[in-house]
Amino acid sequence: MADTVHWADVIAENMLKEDGKHLVAAGITPSGHIHTGNLREFVTADVVYRDLLDRGEDVDFICIADSYDPLHKVYPFLPESYAEHVGKPISEIPCPCGSCVNYAEHFLKPSLEALRRIGINPRICKTDEMYRAGRFNEAIKTALINREVIAKILEEFSGKTVASDWSPFNPRCNECGKITKTKVMGFNPEAETVDYTCACGHSGTEPMAGGGKLTWRVDWPARWKILGVTVESFGKDHAPKGGSYDTGKRIVKEIYGHKAPYPVVCAQTTLGKRGTMYSSTGIAISVSDMLEVIPPEILRYLIIRTKPEKSIRFDPGQPFLTLADEYERLRVQFGRKDPSPGIFEKRIYELSMLTGIYQSEIPFKQMTTIYQVARGDFDQILKIIKRSGFSIENEKCIRDLKDNVSRWLELYAPPFAKFKVKEKVPVQVATISELQKAFLSAFAALIEAKGEVSKEIKISGEEYHMLVYSAKKEGSELNRKIAERLNTQVAPQIDPGDLFKAIYISILGQGSGPRAGWFLSSFEKEFLIKRFEEASTYSPGKR
Ligand SMILES: [Zn+2]
Ligand SMILES: [Zn+2]
Repeated sequence: MADTVHWADVIAENMLKEDGKHLVAAGITPSGHIHTGNLREFVTADVVYRDLLDRGEDVDFICIADSYDPLHKVYPFLPESYAEHVGKPISEIPCPCGSCVNYAEHFLKPSLEALRRIGINPRICKTDEMYRAGRFNEAIKTALINREVIAKILEEFSGKTVASDWSPFNPRCNECGKITKTKVMGFNPEAETVDYTCACGHSGTEPMAGGGKLTWRVDWPARWKILGVTVESFGKDHAPKGGSYDTGKRIVKEIYGHKAPYPVVCAQTTLGKRGTMYSSTGIAISVSDMLEVIPPEILRYLIIRTKPEKSIRFDPGQPFLTLADEYERLRVQFGRKDPSPGIFEKRIYELSMLTGIYQSEIPFKQMTTIYQVARGDFDQILKIIKRSGFSIENEKCIRDLKDNVSRWLELYAPPFAKFKVKEKVPVQVATISELQKAFLSAFAALIEAKGEVSKEIKISGEEYHMLVYSAKKEGSELNRKIAERLNTQVAPQIDPGDLFKAIYISILGQGSGPRAGWFLSSFEKEFLIKRFEEASTYSPGKR
């Protein structure tokens, strides 16, 4: 990689040039479930936040939930009855399930839960609470007084004339509850009220506090000023020339006398081969669905290793396994106390890590082997994990990984990653050669011999692997034992590939399988000894 400095460090170094407290922000509109682009904005902001924190800076991280945004339309996931609520703030609409405080909470709660699962815990600022508490009052007054100036700024960027009755503030109609149908007729800065008429026929006076909302292009810069946001991540849709960041930058400076936050623009994040990741049922995958499959640290790694301005295209099938392997390589390399050099990659790893959350030390790919050997049985899985030399102290973490693997195998695993351990010696064993049979018998004897020394002795994946390879070497114990079984004095010429094939055939009934070391160390020695002995003497008639 050409880069030597991680993008988060570049942003942090820019922020260090500013005096005072830093406030990192990312926004969410809880009108539906959190989407992958939104998730990326939060991971990106979180990384900048942690980076500044690591440098000992005074920094805070907030999630601005636009719970006072109006419902824009009846989304496909909503019943038709929601048509009457279009135009009302989402904090003032009933929740679809009937058990949440309001519509906004219904979607905000699971979104924040998803963020927590990937180690993101920002302070939450809800716009409905901010408006009702009057925190926007000054900004509303200033905007209403400067209506002409704001309109001019917007006209400069859009090249279009702003309507003569346009207002930066949208009052909330006290009759129909909508903030999209009203017109400002006047305002009283002392009383902090706004007079309006509504398309529903109603007219009246509402307080600025909780009686309406600034239009988006003014609302955003007003927030920057009110909250003191210094750096914010947002989607590309706000970033084009003349987009809401450009106009917001001018408005916050000229109207509110404040500086726009440092922008971190996040490019598109698409999942799957054809743009959107679909489950087998054809339904677009949500962030929560994604988290059912991808371990949180690997999801972070996917986002963190890519510069925010570069789009991410992610395929949950084979490419995901490759990604998990890459992460595993970094974990092994940098998880040690004394890591080998590779500062740039080390930084990616550090930022992907979930501080404060125990992470599994079992590679995802190895867990797919363990899971399938154990046929999904959790007690068996724990036994195998222990046998494979991992700690089973944190059961919850292992269970989470097991659940990820189970969903991945069900939904996205390519055929080569799946296998079934045959309960009995499979008929395919009839196809193996005399040499392969001699190997299985000799291999079983060697495993048994190791077991006789002590029942407690575990044979590691690496040892199994080396043992199979030793067959090639003239004079090795395995080579000699194979020769004995073939009744020959001449050291047999052996291709280890054939031996691995014999192992897979005798256990799975197919010529290939998962990485042999991991695979073999997942079984109890007794099972392997019995299976290989049976396979070495197998004849079709004997079953
Ligand atoms: Zn609900
Ligand atoms: Zn109305």
